[in-house]
Amino acid sequence: MGRGRPKGAKGSKLLRVLAKEEADAAGQAAAQVPADRMPCPGLWKTPVIRWDGELMACCADIDGEIAVGNLRDADFDDLWFGPEMTHYRLLHIEGRFDAMPKCWSCGGINFYKIEPEEVHAYLDETNRLDLWPTYTERMGLDSNGRPLSG
Ligand code: SF4
Repeated sequence: MGRGRPKGAKGSKLLRVLAKEEADAAGQAAAQVPADRMPCPGLWKTPVIRWDGELMACCADIDGEIAVGNLRDADFDDLWFGPEMTHYRLLHIEGRFDAMPKCWSCGGINFYKIEPEEVHAYLDETNRLDLWPTYTERMGLDSNGRPLSG
């Protein structure tokens, strides 16, 4: 009798445990998405390259849901600064986390921050300064990016 994986089995026990933990955390996070949730700094600061060359938007994405292309086929800059990543970053700036299921159910990377001036610079760079007023309002900032309360 072979010792291979039984038919129908999907992944290891560890992966199932990780998936369950992720799903539990997802449910909790989705229930508590604050209106002033910060854009995830990971989308700007922590590109992840998988073993097979896939460039992922995110280190929390073990399934490759937010893979943006393969470095065997494209340059890093073309992918990381390309339209797909720009789209994701703008969704986060707009607070439209629900448009990215992975992010909706995730608390985001909390060991980095993205400062208002970085968001402003990014919107300027991408010719989307029209989003700045909505962003500052959502985050409780004045038009210069300073906290309204304090
Ligand atoms: S919010 Fe979570 S899933 Fe989305 S990019 Fe950040 S770490 Fe990844």
